[in-house]
Amino acid sequence: MNPKTTTVADKSFKMMISAETIADRIRVLGGEINRDFADKKPVLIGILNGCFLFMADLVKQIDVDCEIAFMKVSSYHGGMESSRTITEDYDLKMAVSGRHLIIVEDIVDTGNTMRFIVDKLQAKKPASVSIATLLFKPAAMEQKLDLQYVAFEIENKFVVGYGLDYKGLGRNLNAVYQVVL
Ligand code: 5GP
Repeated sequence: MNPKTTTVADKSFKMMISAETIADRIRVLGGEINRDFADKKPVLIGILNGCFLFMADLVKQIDVDCEIAFMKVSSYHGGMESSRTITEDYDLKMAVSGRHLIIVEDIVDTGNTMRFIVDKLQAKKPASVSIATLLFKPAAMEQKLDLQYVAFEIENKFVVGYGLDYKGLGRNLNAVYQVVL
């Protein structure tokens, strides 16, 4: 299902990044990770819920030995505005001291959630922490963070699809859609 426009809950959205463009770009990011992490046996840490499709498609492009793990944090609570209060719903279960970590996130908006996650992981004394994000809104960024693997920089408008939700819906869309106001 790949409509050009769609309705999710009470809002209209238009396609911004097609499924084919997402797949092409993830192949490129996978290649970069294979090159940068050869012999490093990285741990990819997916940030639930939004990462699940990106994580699945990204790991399929990785051919170096790697492990996967998940954390769950929430800051949006289903609407269009970040609550700014970050809650940790599910902590990392794996011991990661001395390991090379790649955080896999759906979107970096203000960067506050990513800052929280990076600080938590750094406290566990890993060998390195890198960030892979499907989407990045540079105009919204409030934190100083190095984002090593960014699939797409987008304008500061609300998006859904390919794992991202609005009011709990829309995560199953194959493409990324931007709100029409
Ligand atoms: P930040 O802390 O960077 O402001 O926001 C990070 C989290 O807010 C993301 O992991 C995501 O859950 C949510 N978020 C930020 N921008 C959007 C957006 O445009 N659409 C959706 N669906 N979620 C977003």
